[in-house]
Amino acid sequence: MSGENTTTKTTVRFHNTLSGETETFVPLKSGVVSMYTCGPTVYDFAHIGNFRTFVFQDVLRRYLKSKGYRVIQVMNLTDVDDRIIQKSAAAGVSIREYTDKYIQAFLDDRRALNLELPEYLARATDHIDDMVKLIQRLTEKGFTYTSEGSTYYRIAKFPEYGKLSKIDVAGMQDGARVDNDRYEKDSARDFALWKAPKTGEHFWETPIGPGRPGWHIECAAMALKFLGETLDIHSGGVDLTFPHHENEIAESEAATGKPFARYWLHAEFLLVDHEKMSKSMGNFATLRELFSHGTKPSSIRFLLASVPYRRQLNFTPESLLGAASSVERLRNFVSRLRTEKFEEGSSAAVAERVEKSMQEFDSGLADDLNTAQALAAIFDLVREANIAMDRGEFRQGDVAAVLGAMEKFDEIFAVLQDDDAEKLGALGIGGGSAAVSDAEVEALVAERQAARKRRDFVASDRLRDELAARGIVLEDSRDGTVRWKRK
Ligand code: AMP
Ligand code: ZN
Repeated sequence: MSGENTTTKTTVRFHNTLSGETETFVPLKSGVVSMYTCGPTVYDFAHIGNFRTFVFQDVLRRYLKSKGYRVIQVMNLTDVDDRIIQKSAAAGVSIREYTDKYIQAFLDDRRALNLELPEYLARATDHIDDMVKLIQRLTEKGFTYTSEGSTYYRIAKFPEYGKLSKIDVAGMQDGARVDNDRYEKDSARDFALWKAPKTGEHFWETPIGPGRPGWHIECAAMALKFLGETLDIHSGGVDLTFPHHENEIAESEAATGKPFARYWLHAEFLLVDHEKMSKSMGNFATLRELFSHGTKPSSIRFLLASVPYRRQLNFTPESLLGAASSVERLRNFVSRLRTEKFEEGSSAAVAERVEKSMQEFDSGLADDLNTAQALAAIFDLVREANIAMDRGEFRQGDVAAVLGAMEKFDEIFAVLQDDDAEKLGALGIGGGSAAVSDAEVEALVAERQAARKRRDFVASDRLRDELAARGIVLEDSRDGTVRWKRK
């Protein structure tokens, strides 16, 4: 299926940091989207601020897929940088061994949040050769110089420097350098592509000398390698705009002479008490901390996805509770659709409502991924369908269309499956081994139904208590059917 066939109805628009405008999205190659997403620096567990950006990237890829595009996404894993070198040396283990643990944790956390796996997960240290070759290309073209064994990028040679972050480099002293990978706009300098090793530090022996790559060259080299000279979408959190993405542009465009990425999408911060959540501020929460305090994975995913990505998200315990009850409301609705028996026939009003909601859902997402508008459309549908059901105006023939709408919603939001307990179990949290599977619950519920039918209320109460002890709540409906959910 080609993207064009299914996108004719809605024009997808994204805000492009490069132009500063919201533009119609058209990929370079018909039906295929190439997308580079900056991944984590794996020196610790990722925090939920990081996951705000990763959830945004997942919603983006899921939406593009739902529009019929084939998505080729690359995510890098930065497994070498100043902090990793320091921390692995302090722990007395190799960089590989040190980062393996956090890469595994990242993959496990992704699974808990239903983040689809990118087509390529690229580990920086597996691509040192590509980085060295890119630096050599830049040297051949006169964009670099060396000093004390390190290689620097001369930003004065790239007149377009600053076009993404709009930083003004006029009057900057040529040759002033910075060695750190992360710095503020007011300290824009020639930056290190390749860093000479300090005593005792891990290094790679290469044709450009011993040392290790700077952060920016990692992403530029891996993006060019996997996606070619010009890619459709490049994204990350807003803090990556400068210097990281500005420097990636300088590196790749100087080497290829081609535009690097056509659409630059940046997610706003997740805040705590109106401050950016970050490791250095010490105001961060990891997923595991939240999970072990009773938060469900689906609540976090819902919360992070629910605020449009270009709006800041102030994280509070109340917002998590709100997300949990929203997910529950949606799950209860789907369960009601599946289990309740309605009168035969179908209702034109419900069909119309579904159609309208789906249009609003799609037009919300097409408008620079306005997830709040998309959710409002779904909640309107849920509210109105529930009212129609309560009034006896909902018909059996309406079920398929409404379920179809909920499935379409879940292709993007991915919170409807009631599998939080299993997900936590997989992370070794919350008595996962005692967690009861859906099939077991169904069997116990059926047994209780049979007991009720033969009016054996002692047995039926015992089964209800047994299910409650395993975290399952039963809701008996008026028509004699029973719905269950996890607490
Ligand atoms: P890092 O591991 O620091 O390279 O960050 C991984 C990703 O998380 C990057 O795209 C960052 O921009 C993003 N990020 C870091 N902190 C936050 C935050 N508080 N809110 C949203 N995104 C963030
Ligand atoms: Zn990057």
